[in-house]
Amino acid sequence: MSLDSFADRVALVTGGSRGIGRGIALELARSGAAVVFSYRTSPEGAEQTRKEIEQSGGQATALECDVADLEAVQGLVASVQERHGRLDIVVNNAGITRDQLIARMKPEDFDDVIATNLRGTWNLCRTALRPMLRARWGRLINLSSVIASMGNPGQSNYAASKGGIEALTRSLAQEVGSRGITVNAVAPGFIETEMTRGLSDEVRAGLLDRIALGRLGSVEEVARTVRFLASEDAAYISGQVIHVNGGMA
Ligand code: NDP
Repeated sequence: MSLDSFADRVALVTGGSRGIGRGIALELARSGAAVVFSYRTSPEGAEQTRKEIEQSGGQATALECDVADLEAVQGLVASVQERHGRLDIVVNNAGITRDQLIARMKPEDFDDVIATNLRGTWNLCRTALRPMLRARWGRLINLSSVIASMGNPGQSNYAASKGGIEALTRSLAQEVGSRGITVNAVAPGFIETEMTRGLSDEVRAGLLDRIALGRLGSVEEVARTVRFLASEDAAYISGQVIHVNGGMA
């Protein structure tokens, strides 16, 4: 394999039916990887991602899976193995928010966010490590957020889940580094997605004041960072959190 080619690589991306996950699936496929991505509630979005990948000359399969469900995640990894016989790159991108000030936040809103974001990431890391340990090569890349280090009112559940993901990333990196597997997190700041397109002009202006580069980031800018971490060029980077936030934190 040439230094920057993903031609023989198989990548699994969770939450590829829209937003950042779609961008990551597209980027890895464009780089030559065979991509499997998961979705939970939007088969239409998943089909759109699959079509975009095919149109750009890539190869992709969409599979339904709730990352919070360990058995479902085991089934997802088994499907990848059956289809491709290997699993090299895993991107834990699926994530949710249930924002509310803590006094008004329902305990279920805390539990759901932890179950999807943190436990979901743990579920897939645990399951995907088996084939990676056998192959003595692997890339685990977990999506965190600038909120893990900054905090944000109304996001105690989300911030805790992302802080947990960063701590998990550092610990796993130490567990599996000797077997040729790197584990890193990418922490985006504010990215142009459906979510941030809905922000009021006032909130947007307040945000822009805090971003050194004076603009929101693009999905592609996050996706290219993930691609770098998945490449041979990032072979000596592990246990790190890479911030993609335009100089915000
Ligand atoms: P979106 O809300 O646009 O997309 C979320 C994706 O996750 C969807 O594909 C959704 O699938 C999937 N998903 C949600 N819950 C589950 C679940 N239980 N099991 C499997 N898949 C699930 O999110 P973004 O693209 O904005 O964010 C992607 C990641 O980046 C998240 O981890 C987020 O926390 C992080 N991030 C985003 C930022 C931003 O500015 N947008 C900033 C910092 C971090 P479906 O559509 O099928 O339900």
